[in-house]
Amino acid sequence: MPDSREAAALAREPLVIPEVESSYARRPARWRDVTEAEWRSYAWQWQNRLLRVSDLADVLDLTSEEQSACMRVSSHFSASVSPHYAALVRRECGASCPVRRQAVPSMAEFECREGLMSDPLGEYRHAISGCSTRRYPDRALIYATHECAMRCRHCTRRSRVGLMEQITRESLETAVCGVIEDTRIRDVLISGGDPMSLDNGTLAWLLERLRACSHIDVIRLCTRMICTLPQRFFDRELLDILQRYAPLYVNTQFNHPYEATAEAAEAMALLRSAGCILGNQSVLLRGINDDASVLEPLYRWLLRCGCRPYYLFLCDVAQGTDHFRTPISSGLDVMRGLRGRLSGLGIPHYVIDLPDGYGKVDLCPDSILRCGADGRMVFRNWYGAEVAYTDVALSETSK
Ligand code: SF4
Repeated sequence: MPDSREAAALAREPLVIPEVESSYARRPARWRDVTEAEWRSYAWQWQNRLLRVSDLADVLDLTSEEQSACMRVSSHFSASVSPHYAALVRRECGASCPVRRQAVPSMAEFECREGLMSDPLGEYRHAISGCSTRRYPDRALIYATHECAMRCRHCTRRSRVGLMEQITRESLETAVCGVIEDTRIRDVLISGGDPMSLDNGTLAWLLERLRACSHIDVIRLCTRMICTLPQRFFDRELLDILQRYAPLYVNTQFNHPYEATAEAAEAMALLRSAGCILGNQSVLLRGINDDASVLEPLYRWLLRCGCRPYYLFLCDVAQGTDHFRTPISSGLDVMRGLRGRLSGLGIPHYVIDLPDGYGKVDLCPDSILRCGADGRMVFRNWYGAEVAYTDVALSETSK
């Protein structure tokens, strides 16, 4: 017999997953006459990114506060929004739209507070070359570019994303040689910026060099473009390159169900057919996704697309992002809410990436309520019931 709390949990309202539309169907009036073929073109999307305040104001109907913020942000981290992402903004939600808040600068970015850092993960401190970092013995991170399809307002790397000074082939060569010479390195992350903003030739060169190295087991590509500019993956030449160096682990970042689109689903299907293994790394953002009822439909949709929720990051202590930060306890509540609503396949690791490069630490809701010396324990399950369990005594394990 289910107890009353279990019955209540099982009887909860069925989840309504919003219909996944194409961004083309939602395109703003500015692009009414654009053909679907143009909209599906990566080159067209890239060239038509909203970069100037007047263009952003035209498409997104900026508030006066947003206009002031757009004019005040530093030139290297000024707004940049792809037409695809701009089409996802819900005008009916006003300035609090969860898509808009990730894309449009806000005056809150200029609030200063002690403890906020320009390099919260200590990536400069742990640099092993001009564009690579090693924070764990077996892993290295290569920053292949400073460019991205969008400048996400919550970005941890906002001090380097968008810098005019480009990463040269020579610096990349130095970073790659460093990784190849260090036989402790088994896992290489190619990040940036967004490495998918590299041209196909540079990407192929980078993958070829790394794949030829016998001590590298894992190559990861970190790209938000599946979410912000999925048209990048409609390119057969790119897919052939990725397939040649399979298996590649491709980690992306979706933060809200409003970012679910037909184009992104298509991009994920193409990437999977090219042998890529997909994972999602959400960032917990205040007022955007700090609620299990927001993340549950997102994670269900991602699983349907063959992309496993991998991490839920506590927002880093990066300058300009304090207004997105949540208390650790909010994320623990989210994790408690997700457990029982989703199978383990859909539950990400909730982690804090400790300041100054001390690495990731798992944050878990307490499921052990009591633990006696006699091995008697009490657990709390997914709907709050207390359940007794007797552990194997340590002395028995050594028999
Ligand atoms: S795509 Fe990634 S690196 Fe680029 S601005 Fe967004 S969060 Fe930062």
